[in-house]
Amino acid sequence: MGKKSAKNRSILIYCSNTDNSKQVEKDLRKKLELAGFNVETDFADKKDDNLTLTDDVELIICIGGDGTFLRAVHYFGFPNVPFIGVNTGHLGFFQEIMPDQLDLLIDNYIKEKYTLQKMQTVKAIVNHDDVVEEFTGLNEFIVKGEDNYSVHLNISIGGGFIEKFSGDGILISTPAGSTAYNYSLGGSLVDPRIKLIQVTPIAPMNTTAYRSLTSPLLLPPDLALGIVPDEGGSKGRMAIAFDGFGRTFDKLDSIEVMLSEVTVNLMRFESYDFWAKVKSKFI
Ligand code: NAP
Repeated sequence: MGKKSAKNRSILIYCSNTDNSKQVEKDLRKKLELAGFNVETDFADKKDDNLTLTDDVELIICIGGDGTFLRAVHYFGFPNVPFIGVNTGHLGFFQEIMPDQLDLLIDNYIKEKYTLQKMQTVKAIVNHDDVVEEFTGLNEFIVKGEDNYSVHLNISIGGGFIEKFSGDGILISTPAGSTAYNYSLGGSLVDPRIKLIQVTPIAPMNTTAYRSLTSPLLLPPDLALGIVPDEGGSKGRMAIAFDGFGRTFDKLDSIEVMLSEVTVNLMRFESYDFWAKVKSKFI
């Protein structure tokens, strides 16, 4: 393992709004500066849009829960710069270390005692109102009706029609997102070393009136999921959501969802094990 000097190296802290997080930020900043790093902090309550990263930033430390981490990833536009999380939030599935491990964080970082976990993301190409837009999610991408309307969606896989889905909506999760909303919907937990997307129905209707697949589907990286709202079926506006962000549309024409080539680098220490984390957080 190498040991690089901390001189002239810049670290950015992204900190949630709680008193606890702000106290951890103070302690961490002091320790990092003492070690020789340049430190900047963005507080989640000060700016909520268009945050930019300067070229010299080599690490982003997120203080908060998983929600704070997801916001940082989106606000910084899915950068290549690695992230590490300090958990002051509720669950902290992405967050690697606890507030009493700040010295360990700095020591491991300087001694390069870590690995980078490349987390896959999901991308959705959305056609609406004669516009094409692309959205990226680290956890998931969701299509549903606004205002509690059921939706009726023609679903295809790899270009071939498979079913007309009727229900609340469809969630497409990454392996990293399999432990989030996907899990609450009865989706499978997926080891992040497996490359796939999981398509999980949200309250599918399966009656003599409507026939929808009720179990999650697992798709390989080279297959895209096609979604076309059924003409005349869905009544109200349609909504999409990705990692807690959302948009609504008067007219949604079609969506194509697939694994994205964009990855997020999460710093993990030697002790990290996905299934141990599942056990400690869920059981
Ligand atoms: P949020 O309050 O930021 O998050 C809701 C809960 O999901 C929090 O406990 C959060 O952990 C946890 N979480 C987020 N990503 C996770 C992951 N990859 N694995 C395990 N738990 C995870 O809610 P939001 O801003 O609306 O949306 C952020 C995410 O929350 C979404 O991407 C979605 O997956 C999830 N969510 C879940 C449900 C549900 O389970 N019914 C409903 C809506 C959204 P922290 O406590 O550490 O922040």
